[in-house]
Amino acid sequence: MLVCRTISEIRGFVRQARARSQTIGFVPTMGYFHEGHLTLMREAKKACDVVVVSIFVNPLQFGPQEDFNEYPRDFERDKRLAAEVGVDALFTPPVEEMYPAGFSTHVEVAGLTQCLCGLSRPGHFRGVTTVVAKLFNIVLPDRAYFGQKDAQQALVIKRMVRDLNMPLEIVTVPTVREPDGLAMSSRNVYLGPREREAARVLYRSLKLAERAVAGGEMDVARLLEIVRQEIASEPLAQIDYAEIRSLPDLEPLARLQGPGLLALAVRIGKTRLIDNTILNPGNSGGAGDAFNYV
Ligand code: AMP
Repeated sequence: MLVCRTISEIRGFVRQARARSQTIGFVPTMGYFHEGHLTLMREAKKACDVVVVSIFVNPLQFGPQEDFNEYPRDFERDKRLAAEVGVDALFTPPVEEMYPAGFSTHVEVAGLTQCLCGLSRPGHFRGVTTVVAKLFNIVLPDRAYFGQKDAQQALVIKRMVRDLNMPLEIVTVPTVREPDGLAMSSRNVYLGPREREAARVLYRSLKLAERAVAGGEMDVARLLEIVRQEIASEPLAQIDYAEIRSLPDLEPLARLQGPGLLALAVRIGKTRLIDNTILNPGNSGGAGDAFNYV
């Protein structure tokens, strides 16, 4: 596995692959790999000749009070895991390589970014779309892989790709979970033992909503009441947002008529966790494994 720290090195690798007519799969990450990341890489490996993974903790997508400095990093472990999965090249640029002095161009998707995480984390999606647009221009992938875990992010990236005619396909992969349902996340390491236990409330509340939909409940206010009550039963949990919105436009909904995204952001102590599910009246409450809506 090739490890590149500069844009010119990874471009050289990509150029050679293209010269051999190989297709390129790309998985952008912030590192500190877990099974969610590795699943994206395996999916890329299945569908593409060559897989490139980036590890870049992107300062642009963190707010001034957020955890950019504390964000967990373990490059040696990441390198070993990526090699085991069969990744062909890792791109790990330093911040100055991506944002040299004088950097002043940003990519911003309107509308979709003005709700959910876009409200709680001002500037976050502008940072995400800017870095992902840069990475797409550097890696020139045929397909890029994103997790449903960050459903709003996947929708925003898809919109950017469509609006700017970027010549690649975005593939979304269902959320990979711990055995007790907690969505895997690099930030789960922040949780102490009691907090880790409390964090199960996110998945429990998603499941309660799915069950209510399966039982015929279509009223969004009532569904959200079920979710909020469940989260309120956990003393360490504080809701940042709990909303049900339309797909793929993330418009507010009063009633579920087709698939809707139930999205949660919950603080467990100091750690902010997100999770979501697709509520689908036509599919016994949940969307199942097929994630065709995001
Ligand atoms: P991150 O390193 O957290 O920026 O995540 C990199 C990619 O992995 C993003 O596309 C995430 O949506 C995806 N991802 C993170 N956690 C999971 C998970 N538990 N299941 C599936 N994909 C995930």
